[in-house]
Amino acid sequence: MIVAIDGPAGAGKSSVARLLARRLGFRYLDTGAMYRALAWLALERGIGLEDDEALARLARENPVSFGDGETVIVAGHDVTGAIREQRIDEAVPVVARHPAVRELMRERQRALGQEGDVVIEGRDIGAVVAPDAAVKVWLVADASVRVRRRHAERFGADAEALATALRERDERDAVNTHRAVDAVEIDTTELTLDEVVDRVAALVEERR
Ligand code: C5P
Repeated sequence: MIVAIDGPAGAGKSSVARLLARRLGFRYLDTGAMYRALAWLALERGIGLEDDEALARLARENPVSFGDGETVIVAGHDVTGAIREQRIDEAVPVVARHPAVRELMRERQRALGQEGDVVIEGRDIGAVVAPDAAVKVWLVADASVRVRRRHAERFGADAEALATALRERDERDAVNTHRAVDAVEIDTTELTLDEVVDRVAALVEERR
């Protein structure tokens, strides 16, 4: 069974998808980490973020893989921490916009999501990557809560700057974001993490 968790930055996708996967004993696939790893490698190699051919080649030649404990590996580098830096937040929507890059990533995501039960987190999973997913969830949250959550993750960061960065990323990611028409929307603004996971787990039970 595939459980697709989509939505904008800060809506709670990662926390929900991780905890849900752990609770149900499903695998967890973070598709955002795959785009982030490619953006990291492009910056590392000095490849222009608008150079779609070079980026697609880079993606083809360097498939992102996941190790134990959600380690993210690309081209032999453990980039688990590095892909969460601000410079990657800024670069990744541009890298993710190229159709050739998305096609390669989606193919790989489908392959990684093929076996067994898996929770896949992203922005186009229920609509494009896995339209047959048994459960599709679209998470949303008020902007102020999304900023607060990001602030808690990035200790010491300026809240005002984070709010601006989040808003800009939303705008730049609009083109990369596709909501499935049959996704169940959950507004996480007033809910605890456990409450959101309970709701998604109930949807999974219904489909079993
Ligand atoms: O989810 P996360 O914020 O880590 O995703 C990082 C970036 O990867 C997003 O800002 C977006 O540009 C891209 N992305 C995407 N499609 C997905 C997942 C992520 O375009 N399915």
